[in-house]
Amino acid sequence: MFDCGEGTQRQMFAARLGLNKKMKLFVSHMHGDHVLGIPGLLQTMSLLGRTERLQIFGPKGIKKFIELFNRTVPYNLAFKLQIDEIEDGLVTKEQEYEVFSAWGKHVIPCLSYAMVEKPRPGRFNVRMAKRLGVPEGPLWKKLQMGESITIKGRAVTPKRIVGPSRSGSKVVYIADTRPCPSVERLARRADLLVAESTFDDSKKDKASEYLHSTASETAKLARRAKVRKLALTHMSAAYKDPRILLRQAKRIFRNTILACDLLRLEVKPLEK
Ligand SMILES: [Zn+2]
Ligand SMILES: [Zn+2]
Repeated sequence: MFDCGEGTQRQMFAARLGLNKKMKLFVSHMHGDHVLGIPGLLQTMSLLGRTERLQIFGPKGIKKFIELFNRTVPYNLAFKLQIDEIEDGLVTKEQEYEVFSAWGKHVIPCLSYAMVEKPRPGRFNVRMAKRLGVPEGPLWKKLQMGESITIKGRAVTPKRIVGPSRSGSKVVYIADTRPCPSVERLARRADLLVAESTFDDSKKDKASEYLHSTASETAKLARRAKVRKLALTHMSAAYKDPRILLRQAKRIFRNTILACDLLRLEVKPLEK
């Protein structure tokens, strides 16, 4: 989860996400619209008996914020909570993916995040394996790991049975910021970029003053970073109809959509 504004847990219920799933929370910065959902979420998770460890990453201040809440609003924290205050760079490494962060340019320190899936092994051709007489089991695993094997005195190379490895997908979340090189680098060739677009182009001055981005600025960044799809988020609540931002962004970057609550997008890497 990237950021946790007020109302997040309600939407988690609506999306039937479940509260005892393996999960990490990445916080961009210490503004209320990005962190005020955390206290309620932790308490509800405890009440409903979460047992899985929860890791929270964020800039300096996140630890004090959560610890103060846990001390002043007593409840029984039912699971292990680990809070890490981080800088830019590699944030966490899992078997299937890594998460990186980069500082943006906002009124207070603010991190953007990239979730990068590791390449997946190529498709295993079961029919071919059987035709070549390779029995199911450890030999299949060896081939999948890229090792050659010998069957009845004949060598079988993995190339004959396992397809080329498939690249993983990259999803980037750009939180409150002016457009800047560090977040642009982070967003490079993302399959999906979810990025803040607080104002429309007529409020360019306001965007500069409050260190946010306009729709066109975000679209230009998406184009420069060569992302595949852009989803605009963090539109100012002053817009009753945020489609004006979509129109402005689309003029510069066609494959743009407006993100909205409970939207589901399937992210697929390019097949090479
Ligand atoms: Zn902010
Ligand atoms: Zn914000």
